[in-house]
Amino acid sequence: MSSSSTDPAIPDLSSLEIVSPWTELSTGTLQALQLEAPTQGCILVVAPHPDDETLGCGGAIALCRAQDWPVQVLVVSDGSQSHPNSIAYPAPALRALREQESIAGLATLGVAAPDVTFWRLSDGRLPLNTTSPAFKQAVSRCQAYLALVQPSTILLPWRADPHADHRATWQIFKAALADVGQRPRLLEYPIWDWDPAQRRTLPKETAIQPWFLDISAVVQQKYQAICHYRSQTTNLIEDDPQGFRLTAEMLAHFQNPWEFYLEER
Ligand SMILES: [Zn+2]
Repeated sequence: MSSSSTDPAIPDLSSLEIVSPWTELSTGTLQALQLEAPTQGCILVVAPHPDDETLGCGGAIALCRAQDWPVQVLVVSDGSQSHPNSIAYPAPALRALREQESIAGLATLGVAAPDVTFWRLSDGRLPLNTTSPAFKQAVSRCQAYLALVQPSTILLPWRADPHADHRATWQIFKAALADVGQRPRLLEYPIWDWDPAQRRTLPKETAIQPWFLDISAVVQQKYQAICHYRSQTTNLIEDDPQGFRLTAEMLAHFQNPWEFYLEER
């Protein structure tokens, strides 16, 4: 798929249940996002896997840090299932490697290691069932974390992302914020939504405002940060033919001079 900003990639708009961000893209109605200086604690970036923070929000992170705004990053899963058959990188080694990659990538964007938190939940198995004990446990942990870092804005995964871990992460935060008096601004970033075959729909009544963020000033910085995620972007781990690899085509979506965010109206 082309990385062109005019790629409509949707054959029949009338058949969609909702206005997808990508249909807005094709009709040219996206509005420019202005990030706001934190009124308290920080701007929080939530990543289901160790690389989503930079792929989805690297430009926003760099822009915030350029203004010296405090940024905290939370990586929810341990990322240990990207190469499940590797002998050279069994799960503990892969987890350590991927955490190092996130630390290095985020350092490039201006976020220091103490401002990055890893929850190390099981990759591929984040709780989606809102009645399960694992989900409730994650929500409690999330509430404690939010009380600690006090975000005024949260960048979190798009609620309808095709990847279940991304949707689970959104669900956990939604539940954790349910009883919060003054809710932070929530901006959702899509990762796997580029592929029309995988794209999910939302009920029509859910009104979503799509935004684009101009990251042209920091796009090189974002590119340099992405290069740190070698386990996901190169042949570093050679002994698992089924291992995950971000293709050049996929990466192209994250090397544009803009990023997408979605906000419930
Ligand atoms: Zn992910």
